[in-house]
Amino acid sequence: MSTELSPQKGNRTINYLRLSVTDRCNLRCIYCMPEEGVDFVPHNQVLSYEEMLRLVELSVKAGIRKVRLTGGEPLVRKGFIPFLEKLSAVEELKEISLTTNGVLLNEFALDIKRCGICRINVSLDSLDPQKFARITGRDYLHRVLEGIKEAERLGFNPIKINVVAMRGINDDEILDFGRLTFTKPYHVRFIEFMPIGKNNSWTSDRFIPADEILTALRTLGELKPLEHNSLDGPAQRYRLQGAKGEIGLIGAISNHFCAQCNRLRLTAEGHLRGCLFSDKEIDIKTPLREGRGEEDLIDLVKLAIDRKPKDHGLLQRDPKKCVRHMSSIGG
Ligand code: SAM
Repeated sequence: MSTELSPQKGNRTINYLRLSVTDRCNLRCIYCMPEEGVDFVPHNQVLSYEEMLRLVELSVKAGIRKVRLTGGEPLVRKGFIPFLEKLSAVEELKEISLTTNGVLLNEFALDIKRCGICRINVSLDSLDPQKFARITGRDYLHRVLEGIKEAERLGFNPIKINVVAMRGINDDEILDFGRLTFTKPYHVRFIEFMPIGKNNSWTSDRFIPADEILTALRTLGELKPLEHNSLDGPAQRYRLQGAKGEIGLIGAISNHFCAQCNRLRLTAEGHLRGCLFSDKEIDIKTPLREGRGEEDLIDLVKLAIDRKPKDHGLLQRDPKKCVRHMSSIGG
């Protein structure tokens, strides 16, 4: 397969691809996808699984070593498991992980595990059924909890629970999520609410900085910082004294990690994107469909790596300028 490449961008090695399998989702989270008025990508413009596989193989040749499958909701797309099976056979991919809202996890967890995937992130912003329904637009908390339980039973490790912290919405549950780590081996990760997409309901009042979350969690006991390892990504990790699980904080805004960001994104529509917050994209689907040669396509991946912005620059410009929904970029 590929020669050992070091896809350097300054001091960063860009070796992590987040692949949006679909822009469709079975939830309508207030911060992500509005109930009405979403312009879904027409089906014929969404990458087929064959195209995704080819682009992952080419990206590997440009130095990508880790893939996270995201969306939209990856588990709503038909044929996802056979795709996962093929993806897991791609040589030189060191890690494949999945981000899901967990609604269909109970149904698919065993098949996912059989494909050799055991790292999973489940998004869950409330443990209260009514509040969950208010945030996501659907009364599915019980399904998500069943999915997480099944993943635990099957030995997924780690199971990361992603909580978007929003003032006045779920800030009263920060401690409940923290307490969960005393009884469960989950990695609960608090994510700062990000101003992304057109109708994301973000306001500065709703934003809770990571430090404030940390201060609240300290009331539960001593929070010991954990050593950073190369698979951690951008989270600052802690463990509460005596807890089975971990706490993570992702300060995408207050403590941005652009200097360490090793991510490239491939949208469901087949565009390469260097930064979540920048709408500058490179269309790789059109040349792929036109039958351009392998070298040209690999060069486009390298170009996307090369053009990756130094930082997200959110403090210098209007955050809402990023017009795509998170669901179509791949969160
Ligand atoms: N459907 C999958 C899920 O729910 O995890 C994958 C896609 S979702 C867009 C990926 C992650 O992005 C979720 O953890 C979600 O909470 C997060 N997310 C989406 N919009 C966000 C925002 N405005 N601020 C912070 N996180 C956001």
